[in-house]
Amino acid sequence: MSELLKIEGLSAAAEDVELLHGVSLTVGEGETHVVMGHNGAGKSTLGSVIMGSPEYKVTDGKIIFGGEDITSLSADKRARLGLFISFQNPIEIPGITVAEFLRNALEQVTGKRIKLWDFKKKLYAAMELLEMDKSYADRDLNVGFSGGEKKKAEILQLLILAPKLAILDETDSGLDVDAVKTVSKGIEEYKRSTGGALIVITHNTRILEALTVDKTHILSSGRIAAEGGAELVNEVIENGFEQFAGRE
Ligand code: ADP
Ligand code: MG
Repeated sequence: MSELLKIEGLSAAAEDVELLHGVSLTVGEGETHVVMGHNGAGKSTLGSVIMGSPEYKVTDGKIIFGGEDITSLSADKRARLGLFISFQNPIEIPGITVAEFLRNALEQVTGKRIKLWDFKKKLYAAMELLEMDKSYADRDLNVGFSGGEKKKAEILQLLILAPKLAILDETDSGLDVDAVKTVSKGIEEYKRSTGGALIVITHNTRILEALTVDKTHILSSGRIAAEGGAELVNEVIENGFEQFAGRE
């Protein structure tokens, strides 16, 4: 399988404090990777740094995406290359509806205008799959949305943008059983229709049930402490993270 994302010896800091220390990992096209680790291990930081958040400064190493060194590219340019992140805490945007936001994001990412009719068709098909009422399209993005609705809106964005690699940061946390099922259905549809790759940051197995996990990475204190296949997920859930501390 050809390489899509290659992270080499990546270190990153915020406010002069180094939070990631020499992280390396490679994701092949269409692969599904899982990142696990205790609270504060650096999982969200890793996602944000891959996405190019200005909050963090890369102090060492590099990020290669689709053969191109993107280490110093802006987040919007990375999005145009096909990178996507679903945030742990999606932001609310008053004054911009879900439909306006998504149409704009799609046009930004593809660099093409899309006819309103074509866009609406695409949008409503994805909303139906996610069991979202059509009226959500005209509501301000995430404003007054419940936790579950915000996560669904993130998956809606994933389906509309169809990136080459999606990073899902605890998209399943705080969701009830039915919402996890719906969100999983959206993720499966993303895989099925685009063949895109995934990095899933999670604490649960439920969201992974319908996915074939190629590799699991355990983060501990900003370092990769262990790596393995799909079996590592269950090992962590049964025995916790302690066993991996210091394995690096
Ligand atoms: P996780 O997602 O694994 O729970 P995070 O990546 O959110 O962990 O955080 C890892 C560590 O980095 C934490 O100690 C957190 O407080 C710190 N951190 C994250 N972002 C910042 C920031 N912008 N400024 C300062 N410290 C940060
Ligand atoms: Mg986090």
